[in-house]
Amino acid sequence: MSKGKERIRDSALRYKQTLGQNFLYDEALLAELTAAAGVTKDDDVLEIGPGCGSLTKHLCDAAGQVTAVELDERLIPLLQAFLAEKKNLTVVQGDVMTLDLKQVTAGLRKPFAVVANIPYYITTPLIRLLLESGLEISRLALMVQQEVADKILAEPGDEAWCPLSVLCRFLCEPELAVKVPAEMFTPPPKVDSAFVLLPLREKPAVEVRSREMFFRVASAAFALRRKTMLNNLCATFRAERAQALEWLQAAGLDEKIRGEKLTLEEIAALADAIDR
Ligand code: SAM
Repeated sequence: MSKGKERIRDSALRYKQTLGQNFLYDEALLAELTAAAGVTKDDDVLEIGPGCGSLTKHLCDAAGQVTAVELDERLIPLLQAFLAEKKNLTVVQGDVMTLDLKQVTAGLRKPFAVVANIPYYITTPLIRLLLESGLEISRLALMVQQEVADKILAEPGDEAWCPLSVLCRFLCEPELAVKVPAEMFTPPPKVDSAFVLLPLREKPAVEVRSREMFFRVASAAFALRRKTMLNNLCATFRAERAQALEWLQAAGLDEKIRGEKLTLEEIAALADAIDR
């Protein structure tokens, strides 16, 4: 039994499914993930959900400062005891979704990396929060369910292309790092996972007049699947058909185009046409 598993067993803790507790104990895999995240002593790291500290230990060895945010109060003493010798670690107890992350990461050098085997029940809102918060982040290196990885890595026209794909491609250059079978986790989740890298672009993939309008159009594009963008525009912006047609023409788009087929450039052109 690995040391991490022993720590959990000895403390008689039960994994909380409601908190997405699927832990990793395989040292070779943890080393592979840390290497794939590209963390060096020049990087400070925010880890979300350190659990009993298996990945945290590798991150502390590889990185500069590490701040780890864990919601489950039961795990805090365990983490602090296990990683007592790691002088570059700060453990914060709380919910990553509601904590003031600017304050939590105040002690980290900027831009910092986010590296985590995240709790899956908050995957999409968490990625949105991290990418839209204005935090100075160099890259995200995250374990996600395979289905979410497909969305993050999707290209226009792919079945998985969706608002999350648009957000990730607009701000980052997503890349698959490691595929991780379900049985590598304790307890194993129902599906396989993938460790994905999301290095942030210096500037977004396409230029837009208003980022807010770009994201409104992106969400409109997928609002009614298999409908034309014309229909989606009318519904989302409560626009007359003639007005929506005018926007499509101004963006150089066919009136029959489906929302879910739009590329980043087309979403940007449409957003600019509406914004005008
Ligand atoms: N990093 C550990 C590992 O790889 O073995 C544990 C990963 S486990 C998938 C996710 C961790 O996130 C759990 O320790 C869980 O308690 C914690 N967690 C769940 N919801 C959270 C939240 N809202 N904020 C911070 N941590 C959370």
